[in-house]
Amino acid sequence: MEKKYLTIVFDDGPLPYMCEMIDLFNQYGFKAGFAVMGSRITPDTEYMIEYAIDNGFQLVGHSQTHPRLETITSEQVVDELTTPINNIKNRFNYNITMTRLPNLCRDDNVLKICKELKLVLLGHGMKCGSDWLPDATPENIIKETLDTACDGAVACMHVKEHTYEALKTILPELKARGFMLVNPDELFKIYGKTNLPYGVHIHNVNNI
Ligand SMILES: [Zn+2]
Repeated sequence: MEKKYLTIVFDDGPLPYMCEMIDLFNQYGFKAGFAVMGSRITPDTEYMIEYAIDNGFQLVGHSQTHPRLETITSEQVVDELTTPINNIKNRFNYNITMTRLPNLCRDDNVLKICKELKLVLLGHGMKCGSDWLPDATPENIIKETLDTACDGAVACMHVKEHTYEALKTILPELKARGFMLVNPDELFKIYGKTNLPYGVHIHNVNNI
């Protein structure tokens, strides 16, 4: 069976279930990304960041406080996007190279700023049962994720209990279908994409 590759990046952590997700991915030899919010990294949660780094999972920027970036000033946008990247560099000696915008919300000005900041933007090239909603169900998350999984996809999910429950079915099934789940960095490397565009949402590496 020919190998297929995709990456899932989980937004909004560090939150409960992040370490459990990492343990689950490790069971299948898979990796993933975590798009973390600066304001959620506290003395009580930083062990989750360390756990991700120690296990070789990729950290991705997801703003400091998760505002709608198109509703704040340019100066605030720069601050929101760069503060967590700088803090994570200082605190954990870890270089964040990619960002997912909060709720994927943007306008031309936000994208222009991202380009100036040389941010690689991760989009969402699958459907995953709207797992950010409080009433999302593992059944629907499983169905949509498996129905839309495709080679080269960059998928967006969230650190949530119902997502963790769904992953217990999703990961073995994707493995059985010949998928390898890898870090975003690794996905781009596998497909020979080295010059990534800045300020452009990447939903699938095959479309770069
Ligand atoms: Zn988010």
